[in-house]
Amino acid sequence: METVRTLEGIGVGTRAVLAEVLRWSARQPLAAMAKSSLGPEIEVNTLSKAIVNLENQYAAKIKAAGNQELREILEAQCAFATDPELADLAKDFCEQGWDAPSALQLAMGEFKSLLEGAGGEFGERVADLDEIVYRLIQWMSGESDETVLPASGSFIIVADDLTPMDTIAFTDVVVGVVTKGGGPTSHTAIVCRARGIPAVVACAGADGLVNGQMVVIDPDASQVIINGSLADSDGDWWSVRPNLGAALIPVMANVGSVADAAQVKSAKGVGLLRTELFFLNNKVAPTRAEQQALYAQVLAAGPDGEIIVRTLDAGSDKPIAFLGIGREENPALGVRGQRVAAIAPKFYEDQLHAIKAAADAVKATGKKIDVWVMAPMIATIDEAQVFAKEARAAGITRVGIMVEIPAITRVIPHLKGVVDFLSVGTNDLSQYLFAADRVNSAVAALLNPWQPALLSTLEEIAADAAMAGIKVGVCGEAASDPLLAVVMAGLGINSVSASPSSVAAVTDLLSRVDVSAAKSAAMAARSATTARDAKAAAKGALLK
Ligand code: PEP
Ligand code: MG
Repeated sequence: METVRTLEGIGVGTRAVLAEVLRWSARQPLAAMAKSSLGPEIEVNTLSKAIVNLENQYAAKIKAAGNQELREILEAQCAFATDPELADLAKDFCEQGWDAPSALQLAMGEFKSLLEGAGGEFGERVADLDEIVYRLIQWMSGESDETVLPASGSFIIVADDLTPMDTIAFTDVVVGVVTKGGGPTSHTAIVCRARGIPAVVACAGADGLVNGQMVVIDPDASQVIINGSLADSDGDWWSVRPNLGAALIPVMANVGSVADAAQVKSAKGVGLLRTELFFLNNKVAPTRAEQQALYAQVLAAGPDGEIIVRTLDAGSDKPIAFLGIGREENPALGVRGQRVAAIAPKFYEDQLHAIKAAADAVKATGKKIDVWVMAPMIATIDEAQVFAKEARAAGITRVGIMVEIPAITRVIPHLKGVVDFLSVGTNDLSQYLFAADRVNSAVAALLNPWQPALLSTLEEIAADAAMAGIKVGVCGEAASDPLLAVVMAGLGINSVSASPSSVAAVTDLLSRVDVSAAKSAAMAARSATTARDAKAAAKGALLK
């Protein structure tokens, strides 16, 4: 009998699965740059045909995308692929004598710097652009390296990393995913979470997995188990605890589209409405009326209860062309989030008024919603005061801020009387606390939300907010982990907001704990010195 071995990574989801490894084809290197032997006219023609073909491919995949998040990612990529500016740039390079694949690569290089100039760093969107170039060149070369999935069976896909075009091809035979790259907030993690596919990302040992090998993915333990069985995994461990009938703290949902809102109709409200996701592809600013119509649609489609709308969180990994954010060396530390309001005051003023008008219009239809507004990336009391004043002037009565920058965690007592609530964004809070770029898979382990320093920070935030009499929720991805949500409740957090596909699991586990169980889990986690031990300790406390 071979010995059981484990590979460490970052788990996505809670359900363990045993299946056969199927390696996803690795990308072939692009051909070297070359001058054309056919002449510009033929090269331009090839290029135009490739773009039309890719547009058709996207159209088919967008249609097939059962999931809104995935659809939006593909739509964004398609918009880049068919941008006339990109085609014009590439045609210019064809005219200069380059063959179509080379012209495209040169054009994309320029296109990237143009966009960087317009909207700051891209983070994962650079990968989107590379994906487009790869697909176009692949079509031009007449080759295809797409992995063909078997018609039946159950497989765990193993890859260096996956793009949205890859994940869209997944059928029901894909029951798990392991990637060497990626992180807790990468495309792969988002898509797997949304589709309920257990995954382990940022798994350095993934290279060693071979086709046909049977492995267990145990996302709850953030492990891939080799030569093991499901009995070695954590499985559905919490079902031994009786359901007490209601979640210990309210579980709200994170929403980024009308479809998300409709999907979480039964949640206890929306803890984060990411408004920037509506405008990622806009080249011109939407009018106040356009914004109002959009927000009204989401509010009408979503759940009753408290709906927390976040003002535009642009910049850094969320570039928005119409805001005029200049090129920055370190965009994650530059003009992003609420800081953008200083350079685009009209948009922010319009947005606050549009939110208020949409809320009033939807309430007038009889829908029982209470719309709150919060600002992202607040660092100082002064910034909180300015935002709160503007939001209240627009008629909004419940005003809050996100806690994502370590500086604001040090001055929470001074927020008394300034804001009505706080919402912790653990994605960015981790990024800034650990000096670890949230879109760089090389540092993903530092962004594990079970890191003791993050738990300690959450505990302090909860204690300071309670002293100041301000309610505090958590809306970062960390709150989509049911066990971590229980720990948060034990640390004194008042509500959590999870991704749409995680709301049910988070609600289920939070319905199986009382205050004292949550406190024991929190205390156990807080006494650990590593992320892995913190999670194991919390679980051990609930299984006692
Ligand atoms: C966060 O930073 O945790 C958060 C919820 O905001 P976003 O992920 O949209 O930056
Ligand atoms: Mg954030």
